Amino acid sequence: MSFDTLGLSPALLRALEEQGYTQPTPVQAAAIPVVLAGHDLMAGAQTGTGKTAAFALPLLERLYPDGKRMPLARRPRALILTPTRELAAQVQESVRTYSKHIGVKSATIFGGVGMGPQIDALRRGVDIVVATPGRLLDHMQRRTVDLSDIEVLILDEADRMLDMGFLPAMKRVLSALPAQRQTLLFSATFSSEIKALANQFMRNPQEIQIAKPNSVASTVTHRVHPVNMEAKRDLLLHLLNLDGSQTLVFCRTKHGSDKLTKQLEKSGLRAAAIHGNKSQNQRTRALADFKSGRVNVLVATDIAARGLDIDQLPMVINFDLPMVAEDYVHRIGRTGRAGSEGLAISLVSRAEEGLLRDIRKLLKQDIAIENVEGFEPSQPLRLDGPGGARPQQARQQHARRPHAQQPRGNGEHEHAAANKQRRSWRGGKPSATRQS
Ligand code: AMP
Repeated sequence: MSFDTLGLSPALLRALEEQGYTQPTPVQAAAIPVVLAGHDLMAGAQTGTGKTAAFALPLLERLYPDGKRMPLARRPRALILTPTRELAAQVQESVRTYSKHIGVKSATIFGGVGMGPQIDALRRGVDIVVATPGRLLDHMQRRTVDLSDIEVLILDEADRMLDMGFLPAMKRVLSALPAQRQTLLFSATFSSEIKALANQFMRNPQEIQIAKPNSVASTVTHRVHPVNMEAKRDLLLHLLNLDGSQTLVFCRTKHGSDKLTKQLEKSGLRAAAIHGNKSQNQRTRALADFKSGRVNVLVATDIAARGLDIDQLPMVINFDLPMVAEDYVHRIGRTGRAGSEGLAISLVSRAEEGLLRDIRKLLKQDIAIENVEGFEPSQPLRLDGPGGARPQQARQQHARRPHAQQPRGNGEHEHAAANKQRRSWRGGKPSATRQS
């Protein structure tokens, strides 16, 4: 299947070609024709499936048929609501990329930055507004935004917006929009609250379900290293020093991620933290530094990392396990994207056994439990129950090579090869010693 058959204009197809997209992802193939036909849509798809292009492309086609630039609208014609400012910025970046041969004015509206520039942008006129619900509501109350001409509304990561307590704000925004409009709702999961929202605000939506809720890419290898709580930092350093790939490290708390980042920096690693207490500028800079390779390790909390658009990240490390099993899936969504191989490592202390059990139940798949030599915990993890995996001694010959010997600039291939090797160990007969 190629993009040509989906009914998009040459201006959009050219932008996709320049992006190197050769074929639509499943959510794009399913959603684009439905949106172009003018239907409301409820799509079950999580980050990493290509969902942004799945709504942005047909949106652009609907607003600018055949790629024709319209005179700039005085009032915005499309509204995209997202849970976080990072996601809003990334969605706008995608819209810009895909519309570069059309030329579309868009604005992002989110909290944590001054109102002034947003008011100016809205006053100058934009076609598409990408906003978080709280700040948009502020603008509505000050009458600095007029949503009376909205033709298309998109709710991106609707489940997350509800998790973050945005339901009242969303309802007020939704009530202010013209009844005659197209509404697209994207969500990883469909709770009864989301269905109720859809019932109230959508017209006869078509439904598509791409990734099963709570599934992760099949190209991701999951691994758990049991470790004493107090040895976690050293184990993390050990792993990071063995493998020079760009790595996203998850911490549960803002304070924890700051502290860890400082410790990593002290040990000579180039690290940055991204969490809710950082200013928008700091977050943008940390992400840009990570993307450009100036920083190798990005330490993030769950909320801050949500929606981060980082391509083909080879490795994610959970320094702490998330409190909620679903967040494991969101975290791991950063690796193994678009068919590339990924590795998800979790450092698990005894205090986190319960969390690990929940994650395994949710994933419905085995996670290799491997002790790392020199970091064996004083007591083994207790993971009895269905799907109990047997701990084995980690065999990391591939990674033990001194870092300097690894060819730089070819990191992805190196990593893919390493992953294959890991796979074959798991598939073969590990010389595992069962923990007593
Ligand atoms: P998303 O699920 O929207 O966050 O997209 C995940 C990543 O996949 C983004 O980095 C996109 O640039 C990329 N992507 C989206 N669609 C395609 C496609 N058809 N081919 C290749 N990469 C894509």
